[in-house]
Amino acid sequence: MSYSRSPRNARKSGGGRPSRFEEPEDTIALLESVGPVVLPPEMDSFDELDLSPVMRRAIAKAGFTKPSPIQASLIPYALEGADVIGQARTGTGKTAAFSIPILEQLDSLEECRDPQAIIVVPTRELADQVAGEAARLARGVPTEIAILSGGKNMNRQLRQLENGVQLVVGTPGRIHDHLQRGTLRLHKTWCVVLDEADRMLDIGFRPQIERIMRKCPRNRQTLLLSATLPPVVRRLAESYMTEPTVIDCCRNEMAVDTIEQRYFTVANDRKVELLEQLLERENPEQAIIFCRTKRGTDRLHRQLSRTYHGACGCIHGDLQQRERDRVLQSLRDRKLKLLIATDVVGRGIDITTISHIVNFDVPQDCDDYVHRVGRTGRMGRDGVAYTFVVPGEGEVLTSIEQRINKELVRDSLEGFDPVPAPVAAVKSEEEEAPAEARRSLNPMTRKKKRRR
Ligand code: AMP
Repeated sequence: MSYSRSPRNARKSGGGRPSRFEEPEDTIALLESVGPVVLPPEMDSFDELDLSPVMRRAIAKAGFTKPSPIQASLIPYALEGADVIGQARTGTGKTAAFSIPILEQLDSLEECRDPQAIIVVPTRELADQVAGEAARLARGVPTEIAILSGGKNMNRQLRQLENGVQLVVGTPGRIHDHLQRGTLRLHKTWCVVLDEADRMLDIGFRPQIERIMRKCPRNRQTLLLSATLPPVVRRLAESYMTEPTVIDCCRNEMAVDTIEQRYFTVANDRKVELLEQLLERENPEQAIIFCRTKRGTDRLHRQLSRTYHGACGCIHGDLQQRERDRVLQSLRDRKLKLLIATDVVGRGIDITTISHIVNFDVPQDCDDYVHRVGRTGRMGRDGVAYTFVVPGEGEVLTSIEQRINKELVRDSLEGFDPVPAPVAAVKSEEEEAPAEARRSLNPMTRKKKRRR
């Protein structure tokens, strides 16, 4: 059977950049200041998209029956070569939304040995997942995909790049490393994807991202995906995108809508006890328990391991990459029932069997809450999320509720009388929090992030 991918659409040339943004209060006006805003169309089948037969077969094989809203809206624009900002949260099918148009337009390795498209993501775990999803959708057409992320074998990456690569998926730090060594050349790259752009900027990857963008041809296509569009993201778009169309998949919508969300008020020194009883009551298929700090994660892991032994794993940024991969694989293989995680690492986990999320420590900001809770209820499946609120954290709870436009339901367990949650200074483990969490403890930052 012969098959050739559809020819790559010509990029529109030049075009004036959008003017400096004002920052209107209203979210819609704010989005419109970036570019024309479109809402996702209703679409019942992938047949409505202009896709090749081989891609349709790969999509069917992946088990996708109808495009998700971000897919229905982003794919046609991306196939036309337009720059697009997709405001979409994780769990909405955004990976396939940008992978499908790229894969449809890749030239074969014989035609071009240098990377034609590059997908930049904030974490190693997400890099693995995105590359895995792209490989799944590339089924039927030989496609060389390289994962360039930190913590992975450099020699293997060098060999791969030398042998020729069509698509790169990687983290900003390692991609930047390769650019500095001269082992990665982006002069043939016609598409750059910045996935979870808000998160990458939060972590402090702006300089690396800018360097990567500057190394790509000027008339490349840029697709930017972000759960939120704070000023830093809009400024990045302003500097590096050409007349982007904004796809708003977040209006009136919350990826966490199908998820039951509850909270407990609890004294700080009874959290572990409450967690143990909650796990007993719920008997989750698989649960992720989020802690604020690496040390806190280790400590809780030790405590829960007494009961759950080998069925309880732990993951955070201090663990070697090999160990992190091993833990995530055990979770996928369902050998683990519980995973204790920090935000930075937990964010990239895409496993559909997660039935429960427990915010053992309240997240530091509302976006983290949405990302944590979005680990369950993937693609419309049901899930439940519990948040433990200690006295003094009432204000954080309120701002989460404002952010998701929904009240969390108060839950209780026998022996745990509701503890009042007066508004007072948040008792935190700030001194051991990771840098990005520390930044968001700053009330000014928090306030800015909430304005949308
Ligand atoms: P993402 O938002 O890219 O992390 O995707 C979340 C999950 O949804 C992944 O496991 C995807 O494989 C899956 N997925 C993506 N698109 C679809 C679709 N159209 N129908 C069903 N599942 C999908």
